[in-house]
Amino acid sequence: MTDWAPTTSEEQLLILKDAALDFALSHGLVVRPPPPPVTAATSISNIQEAEGVINAPVSLFPSPFPKAAFDNAVKIQPLFNQLVHDISEDDEFLKEIMESLSTVDDFVSRLYNLYITVKKRGITQPASLGIHRSDYIINLNPGQDFSDAKIKQVELNTISVSFGSLSSLTGDLHRYLHATTGYLTDKVDNSMLPSSDSISSIASGLASAHELYGSKTAKVMMVVQPGERNAFDQRWIEYNLLKNHGVVMIRRTLAEIAEQGSLHPETSALYMGDQEVSVVYYRSAYATTDYPTEKEWEGRMLAEKSLAIKCPTIAYQLVGVKKVQQVLAAPGQLERFVKDPADAALLRASFTGLYPLDSSPEGITAYEAALANSDELVMKPQREGGGNNIYGKDIQKVLKELTPEQRNAYILMDIIRPPITKNVLLRKGQLLRADVVSELGIYGIYLHDGKKVVRNDNGGHLLRTKGVESNEGGVAAGFAVIDSVVLL
Ligand code: ADP
Ligand code: MG
Ligand code: MG
Repeated sequence: MTDWAPTTSEEQLLILKDAALDFALSHGLVVRPPPPPVTAATSISNIQEAEGVINAPVSLFPSPFPKAAFDNAVKIQPLFNQLVHDISEDDEFLKEIMESLSTVDDFVSRLYNLYITVKKRGITQPASLGIHRSDYIINLNPGQDFSDAKIKQVELNTISVSFGSLSSLTGDLHRYLHATTGYLTDKVDNSMLPSSDSISSIASGLASAHELYGSKTAKVMMVVQPGERNAFDQRWIEYNLLKNHGVVMIRRTLAEIAEQGSLHPETSALYMGDQEVSVVYYRSAYATTDYPTEKEWEGRMLAEKSLAIKCPTIAYQLVGVKKVQQVLAAPGQLERFVKDPADAALLRASFTGLYPLDSSPEGITAYEAALANSDELVMKPQREGGGNNIYGKDIQKVLKELTPEQRNAYILMDIIRPPITKNVLLRKGQLLRADVVSELGIYGIYLHDGKKVVRNDNGGHLLRTKGVESNEGGVAAGFAVIDSVVLL
């Protein structure tokens, strides 16, 4: 397991760094730098610097991943895609979970109320598009062979999954470096460095939904955050949508939708000015910070009421909350939705221990166990985007501060312990040798027309790698880098 990458001297690393930086800058493997601190003395040159780009944070080497575990993650993705859809159609199941959260989580409550309002009004658009990403860390038991390590699901993201484009490009970077410098051992061939088609699969999902909508002159709208630093990951989707499918994408913030949007009085078709929108693709709208004022909620409401196909629907977004993941892990719950016992067993094998923090007997037991020892647990609120979880002793501190009712806003999960490997991280042009752990993401593309499944596909993969000392793994949040896999 350790002999896939030879030790590299400082001199060789500098050569690799230059090659990697040029590759990143010439292939759009880039992000916007953080904005310079605004001071009275902020100069013109500072502002211009903010308009330039820097290399996306990447690893210099691909990281090892067990082939059997990788193949398994790819294999079960269509089952997860279908599961999200089936749960989204079970009103009672969603209602029970969302009502249990509604008194303790304002954001989920507001989303659920929006969902109810739109549903009561009558569904204008029966189709749903899902572009999901299921995230896994491999669990290596003491004494177990690396190649036998199994995947454990961290979470299933159903809204605004990112890095589809930059992950494909990072795989290209690693294959380029290997081809030009032979920097991995000669035991590594290209079949062990699988490319990811996520740079094109997300655009192809949007194109399928656009085609289903059925208007050639309409455009796909990406709903973006103002001042997005990860805009190039998004732009590649726009460029592929145009190049491969002849469909134009526009970009609007939630506030701009409120300002510029209207619904056709008869069809409820969504218009931005005089531009009809076929698909609303959210790369925003998942965090409380995406709704700083009522205007953003107005924008969301308008889009939701419209005839445009939503990616995701609010129901899919709600299915992605961590409480749903925890409930599904309880005995018999997953099996309510996945009728084939073999399929259910495949999915269940990817679950790690998940526990409620409610007033049920299981919830009380989990609470008491966490107060006694929280070292092997992570506590999660119903939030997305990284940086929200609570670890170790902090769990005990927070648990003691919460009322029994407030605890229900969180779930507990067993910590997954992956093998530690070595890599060299390249961020903002600087190299850092580090002991690292990785998290695999598998993209899923799913389209349902309201009556039948139109598409249920795999959409490529992502590997994110972070220093072992960091609890969280968000690339955008500054904890991790984008990586690719060497299958061993
Ligand atoms: P978010 O929706 O904010 O991305 P996640 O559940 O993915 O929330 O948690 C964020 C990060 O925390 C993950 O990328 C991972 O690095 C770490 N993490 C979450 N759950 C676990 C776990 N069970 N074991 C180990 N690390 C975890
Ligand atoms: Mg998430
Ligand atoms: Mg995550």
